Amino acid sequence: MTGSAPLRLRLDGDALTANWRWLAAKSGAAACGAAIKANGYGIGARGVLDRLAAAGCRDFFVTTWDEARALGSLPDGVSLSVLHGVRDEDMAEAMASRARPTLNTVEQVKRWKQAGGAPCDVMVDTGMNRLGLAVQDVADGLLDGLNIDTLMSHLASADEDVPQNERQRKAFTALAGQTGARRMSLANSAGICLGPDYHFDLTRPGLALYGGVPRREAVGHIAQVAHPEAQVIQRRRIGAGESVGYNATFTADRPMELAILNIGYADGYLRGFSNRGSAGGGRFPVIGRVSMDLIALCVDAEPGLGEGDWVPLDYDLPTASAQSGLAQYELLTVLGGRFERVWR
Ligand SMILES: *Cc1c(COP(=O)(O)O)cnc(C)c1O
Repeated sequence: MTGSAPLRLRLDGDALTANWRWLAAKSGAAACGAAIKANGYGIGARGVLDRLAAAGCRDFFVTTWDEARALGSLPDGVSLSVLHGVRDEDMAEAMASRARPTLNTVEQVKRWKQAGGAPCDVMVDTGMNRLGLAVQDVADGLLDGLNIDTLMSHLASADEDVPQNERQRKAFTALAGQTGARRMSLANSAGICLGPDYHFDLTRPGLALYGGVPRREAVGHIAQVAHPEAQVIQRRRIGAGESVGYNATFTADRPMELAILNIGYADGYLRGFSNRGSAGGGRFPVIGRVSMDLIALCVDAEPGLGEGDWVPLDYDLPTASAQSGLAQYELLTVLGGRFERVWR
């Protein structure tokens, strides 16, 4: 199971599955899918797909055909949607694939119709002004003749209590019955927490599957999935008045024991954790600046900790987000290629 990398991401499959089950229960009568784009938010899309499919998840979402291909063959009964739709150069692959494109533009709709009308999904923009067709395009009959599995829209501010949520919900509800779509889907992780009016037929959580807490309603129900652990390369003692790391941003006011760990900003442990992050459940504060490949921890609390020992970084997403100034999403997607990803 473990190779020789001095840096690993311990992945808790039970926590992943439990998070999905909570989101599925919260989704009520709606089916609960899973966004596994960006390599499963940095965790490993295939590992996530296998575990969630085994738990009963049937609907998965990736961004591009590259991501769809990288997943390999899909388990029976599993549906995959490619959120960015189809470019000309995707068409051959899309036609041969079991995955469906999510059509977002007038051009994409024309392209897919010309190719013969295989099942597709459609994204309608209801006020985020990011990706998707206009509500008016639907009213004008643009979608007539398409074989639509899921009609989607995406909430811009579901993690906040703002009138935009209700406006988007109303605009989306008004599309019901206008397209022949088999299903309607609006809610991401935060949207699930907004309640049954937002669930429609299918929900699409991402962040909360992976340990992110999108809104207060989810506090206490979402477990951490990704646990970074790094090995100690060196232990050292510094005296009062000595400084640590680039630009000497920390100066010791007393003698101190340090452990130097094999992790840095090149691994996604970004400089926002400088003098703010911690490890070992708060027992080992990060001292000085995060380097590209190294950090220093104060390990006064653990006299026995030495070269070659593994140290768990504190990476509970809401806490780490407050410490580092990074979004919970970013904390996951920045985790780099030098981590050995180990499921348990
Ligand atoms: C990423 C994404 C999701 C998942 O959103 P979370 O906030 O991570 O739950 C759902 N739908 C679409 C269209 C997305 O792009």
